[in-house]
Amino acid sequence: MNLTDRENGVILISGGLDSVTLLHSLMKYPETNIYPLFVDYGQKQLDKEIESVRYFCDKLKTNPIKEIKIEGHPVIKNDINYIPFRNMTLMSLGCAYCQELNGNSVYMALVGGTPTPGASGYLDSTPLYLEYSRNLVEAMTDDSESDNPKYKGIEIITPFFQSRSKADVYRLAKSLYVELDKIWSCCSSSDERCGKCNSCVEWEALKKIVS
Ligand SMILES: [Zn+2]
Repeated sequence: MNLTDRENGVILISGGLDSVTLLHSLMKYPETNIYPLFVDYGQKQLDKEIESVRYFCDKLKTNPIKEIKIEGHPVIKNDINYIPFRNMTLMSLGCAYCQELNGNSVYMALVGGTPTPGASGYLDSTPLYLEYSRNLVEAMTDDSESDNPKYKGIEIITPFFQSRSKADVYRLAKSLYVELDKIWSCCSSSDERCGKCNSCVEWEALKKIVS
């Protein structure tokens, strides 16, 4: 990962394995100027997520965390794992914050590769979604061809998407000495992992695959 041509970048961070591992890998570069963005969209696991985000950002001495709160984000009954248009919402807020910073990159820890049991596989994390999103963001941000350019183009950067499966991210986290017990990815509101949601099933499967 080469950040030398980057300026200010925003990383969307949830406190889960993927975004925390990406944050660790980005912070290894001294030239990194990364601004963490946490979005409170009313998730049940909010307190646990923000606890994890604050822990890691403090430990890694990142720039201050920007927190954005959305009230009344729609939910689908009977599907606690799916939040409608979540990635598009997060990406939009990441780009908006990036523009406020006059930055040029938004990092998202979307994971491609072989699905792990329990993984969501929703349509807002597919190659097609990413391709269209990048085109849309480019159309909305790059005015370099105009007579009076005001804003930089923003690149959506997803370092894990092409080359890494979830198991690869787990291995990378271990190699970066990420404190796995400080990560939170369960979708329930309980103090302990529920063991039933997609994230918990996936987490258990990962531990078996990687061990
Ligand atoms: Zn769970």
